[in-house]
Amino acid sequence: AAKGGGRAQFRFYSNDLKESADDRREIEEDLRDALAHGQLEMHYQPFVGAKDHQVRGFEALMRWEHPEHGAISPTVFIPIAEDSNLIDSLGEWALRQACLDAAKWPGDLAVSVNVSAQQFLNENLPVVVDNALAASGLSAKQLELEITESVFMGDVSATDVMFKKLRKLGVRLALDDFGTGYSSLSYLRRAPFDKIKIDQSFVRGCTEGNNNSNAAIITAIVSLAKAMGMRTTAEGVEALDELERIGALDADLVQGFIFSRAVPQRAVMEKLATGELHYEPIGPARHRADRK
Ligand code: C2E
Ligand code: MG
Ligand code: MG
Ligand code: MG
Repeated sequence: AAKGGGRAQFRFYSNDLKESADDRREIEEDLRDALAHGQLEMHYQPFVGAKDHQVRGFEALMRWEHPEHGAISPTVFIPIAEDSNLIDSLGEWALRQACLDAAKWPGDLAVSVNVSAQQFLNENLPVVVDNALAASGLSAKQLELEITESVFMGDVSATDVMFKKLRKLGVRLALDDFGTGYSSLSYLRRAPFDKIKIDQSFVRGCTEGNNNSNAAIITAIVSLAKAMGMRTTAEGVEALDELERIGALDADLVQGFIFSRAVPQRAVMEKLATGELHYEPIGPARHRADRK
């Protein structure tokens, strides 16, 4: 399905370019094939204690190796899957795979799986989650579902019922990308989150100057979370100065390239097989805007 005479491949690689309707349809078709033919893989990025740098779990991130176009970013294909009905089957596959992989990790490490708002509003989700747990043997408390504020745009009572059902299963809930959406504080009261993930846009530049608004926002989120019995993860930490500042601002957990990018299950198993739960920071001393 990926032919289409002379269309430029760069479109597939670009995250900023708005794909045409044709491009989107083609990506959608290819994605359907990808799921059927094993071109999708789950990779795992560690999240570690902000002070001890010991791994507590891994976030599952979907990867697609297109046979002709190479790696395609989830920021490109997830929105397309969301606009079609593909996100449900993609999401179900992701949950099952992540639970199967996490069940092989030693100890009681957690796995965090991203769940799109469309999946969240599908009343089948609790059954899908329960099946993934049963098929893998993973304990419910080791599974965390990451949702974004966009789920609150849906039907209020359906959303509240879904929260209750997921809670009853015993899985944990994290609010992803906090601060980038509407960030209404009433969401925090309505939903039983275990964790708030502070978006990386606040981490970037949180080290500069004294009167730093990003640092102030992080401080406020951390203290609000603590008062409500939730933990916080700082996302997208890349440099040593950011890591230090995040520790000083008292976030509980850190995730970012400074410790590791998302890696295949094989690499996770190799790391854990050494018995080493500690991650060494590998980032530059300071964040540079030009760093990719
Ligand atoms: P997200 O859930 O907020 O995931 C974090 C993203 O930040 C990931 O991008 C991760 O690779 C990236 N990241 C982690 N540390 C750093 C860092 O230090 N610096 C920078 N610049 N980036 C960092 P990725 O893997 O491209 O995923 C993008 C988004 O796609 C995710 O954002 C999530 O919304 C979505 N996504 C990925 N996998 C899935 C999935 O299985 N299901 C669903 N529904 N969405 C997914
Ligand atoms: Mg996430
Ligand atoms: Mg995020
Ligand atoms: Mg995101």
